[in-house]
Amino acid sequence: MRRKLVAANWKMNGSKAQTESLLNAFVAGIDAKAVDAVVFPPALYVAQVAQLLNGTGLEWGTQNVHAADNGAFTGELSLGMVKEFGCRYVLIGHSERRELFGETNADAATKVAAALNADVIPMLCVGETLQQREAGTTEAVVGEQLDAVLNEVGIEAFKRIVIAYEPVWAIGTGKTATPEQAQAVHAFIRARLAKADGDVAAQCRVLYGGSVKAANAQELFQQPDIDGGLVGGASLQADEFTAICQAAAEV
Ligand code: PEP
Repeated sequence: MRRKLVAANWKMNGSKAQTESLLNAFVAGIDAKAVDAVVFPPALYVAQVAQLLNGTGLEWGTQNVHAADNGAFTGELSLGMVKEFGCRYVLIGHSERRELFGETNADAATKVAAALNADVIPMLCVGETLQQREAGTTEAVVGEQLDAVLNEVGIEAFKRIVIAYEPVWAIGTGKTATPEQAQAVHAFIRARLAKADGDVAAQCRVLYGGSVKAANAQELFQQPDIDGGLVGGASLQADEFTAICQAAAEV
């Protein structure tokens, strides 16, 4: 049985004061025994998050990482650094990293391998654009994104990887994929993994992301292949995010 996981991607939003008030509400409102909850703050706030969440059962990570151990990579963070601040997870290949910062499938694969090597759990984001969906290439695009990582790290590694399926057209747009649309792609992802190893496919958690909110979380999380959510906008509202986590805990 796969335990539900809900992650908050704050993107480039927040402040010290907002971090404190959101996390106080998350700690009070999320039952960490019933659901895995992970917060991805902007990197500057990770130390503050680590201090506030230490010992609460809630976990945290960074929104990006560099694959190298150290060196002349201005503006980047290494896995050694994120581990030093207690990050158990790292987001990899978010569509904004792909679209705005030119990250490729090969970059995502390299970063996933480096994270696994460092014993940090990669949350690998995949998903198609509206144009790709309308062209009928959703499965080809998502399949290619997955295969790049599968070919780099092998199927066994997917026991330690979380996948987030995020249709790009649903991110930050208010347009959620219907539960049926999301389930269809989740089933495709699981079947793709199952071709390599059925047991690993059955264990791997696949989250849905794209305008998840309290009002739609339950019906998404009820789908058989949806194991939780990656939440952007709604994770900046304490009552919304805690309600989403509660929906996950109850399904
Ligand atoms: C995201 O950034 O991963 C995301 C899903 O954003 P939103 O929930 O705002 O669509």
